[in-house]
Amino acid sequence: MDFQRWLREATRRLAAGESPKRDAEILLGFVTGRARTYIMAFGETPLTATQLLQLETLLARREQGEPVAYLTGEREFWSLPLSVSPATLIPRPDTECLVEQALARLPSEPVKVLDLGTGTGAIALALASERPDCQLTGIDLQPDAVTLAKHNAQKLNITNARFLQGSWFSPVAGETFALIASNPPYIDATDPHLAQGDVRFEPSSALVAENAGLADLAHIIQTAPAYLQKGGWLLLEHGWQQAEDVQKLLCDAGYQQVSTVKDYGGNDRVSLGQRTS
Ligand code: GLN
Repeated sequence: MDFQRWLREATRRLAAGESPKRDAEILLGFVTGRARTYIMAFGETPLTATQLLQLETLLARREQGEPVAYLTGEREFWSLPLSVSPATLIPRPDTECLVEQALARLPSEPVKVLDLGTGTGAIALALASERPDCQLTGIDLQPDAVTLAKHNAQKLNITNARFLQGSWFSPVAGETFALIASNPPYIDATDPHLAQGDVRFEPSSALVAENAGLADLAHIIQTAPAYLQKGGWLLLEHGWQQAEDVQKLLCDAGYQQVSTVKDYGGNDRVSLGQRTS
C-alpha cells in the first residue's frame, strides 16, 4: 500500500464528511511526518505496517465523526500551529476576523489586552504574536484549557501572554485593559447545529449559553466597562443572527461607536463598542 492508494481509499471512506480529501491528507501527513507537498510529489512511497495500522485507527475514528484536529492534536490559527484537545473548542477561521478587528483598534503604544474564555489561547496568542510590546491576559474557567493555552504559549515562544483560571473577569479584579476580546459560548441549547459534524465532539461549556445563546455575551457586555480604560474597546464574536441583539446590549450598556463586522463567509460575526466615559 502506498501514499496514493491509501489516500484514494481513505477519501472514499470519508465521503460522507465535509472535507474527505483534505482530512485524509492531514491524517497521512500526521502519521508519516511528511508535508503535503511531499505526499503529492511522492505518491508511490510505501507505507510501513505500523503506519498502516495507525492510519486505520485514525480513519475509523474520523469515520465516527471525531474532528481531525482532535485526532492530530493540532490546528492552525492565524498561522500559529496550536495544540488542541477535547477540553477546548477547535479554533475557527471565523475568529481570525475578531483578531483583525482587535489589531486595527489597538493603540500604537504598548497596552494591556484581555481575552475571555481563551480556550487554546488562540485569540490571545495571535494578538501577542502580532504585538510583542503588549501584555496579553487569557482567562478560562476550565483548568485544562488554561494548561493547554500555557503550553501553546511556551511551544510558540510567546512570552507576553499569561493565562489565568477563573470565571470571566474574576482573576483580574481591579485591573483595566485597553481592549477586551471574547469568543464566548453563544449557541442556544436547542440549536440543531449542535447535532451535526465536528461540533458534537466539542465541549458544550464552550458552545452553549442560556437565554437563546445571549447570556454570556450579555454578562460580558455589562461587566466589561469596569475593566476597560476610557477609550477602550470591547470586541465580541457571536452567531450570525445575533448582531441586532448584541448591538442593543452594547448600546443599552452605554458603549459608543457600536458596529458589527462580517466574517469571510459574509455573515455578521463580530460586534464592538467603545467605552468613552
Ligand atoms: N462558531 C462556532 C460554531 O458555530 C461556535 C463558537 C462559540 O460558541 N463561541 O460552531
